Amino acid sequence: MARQVGPVCRLCRREGIKLYLKGSRCFTVKCPITRRKTVPGMHFWRSGKMSKFGVQFREKQKLKRFYGLLERQFRRIFGKAEMQKGNTGENMLLLLERRLDNVLYLTSFAASRKEARQIICHGHIMVNDRRVNIPSYMVKAGDVIRPATREKSQGIAKANLETYFSRYNSQWLELDKDAPQVKVSRLPLREEVSAPVQEQMVVELCTK
Ligand code: SF4
Repeated sequence: MARQVGPVCRLCRREGIKLYLKGSRCFTVKCPITRRKTVPGMHFWRSGKMSKFGVQFREKQKLKRFYGLLERQFRRIFGKAEMQKGNTGENMLLLLERRLDNVLYLTSFAASRKEARQIICHGHIMVNDRRVNIPSYMVKAGDVIRPATREKSQGIAKANLETYFSRYNSQWLELDKDAPQVKVSRLPLREEVSAPVQEQMVVELCTK
């Protein structure tokens, strides 16, 4: 009998990549993607060549699931990226990478991007000494992000840093584990974006 996986892991299996939706489990051998020997999906032996639209659609879904976005939120970011100068695909990825929930995840302040969103919405995070409860807040170079002074906020941050610190390796985010705080030393570069997607495919689909 096929091993059952939870709804969250099923998303990773559908996209065929690790989306890191389940906190620490994603980094262990318990991750079904790490464990499996075949390509993901129940009907992998049936999979023929995907149409161009299929590939573009899968890339877009992958991107949305990776950052935990709804279609409306994704469209808003895409619209912003289109308005900026330069490559739209690259602009879109850099905007997504700068989201506050993503920054908290990358710097080990939360187990997953979903948990990061919850921490922000509950008012546990301050940016430049002002409380920010918007997960889509775009960080800028020079921003300083730290947990609120409340004991509970500090406790959550310290516990997560203790558990997930080994995951931190972002060059554009300076993490001070003892403070604890994060300084955005500069904006991210394309090669530092964590999402494994072909952004050009997404742009082609969205500009049809
Ligand atoms: Fe599940 Fe995380 Fe592995 Fe995805 S990466 S399959 S969410 S354990």
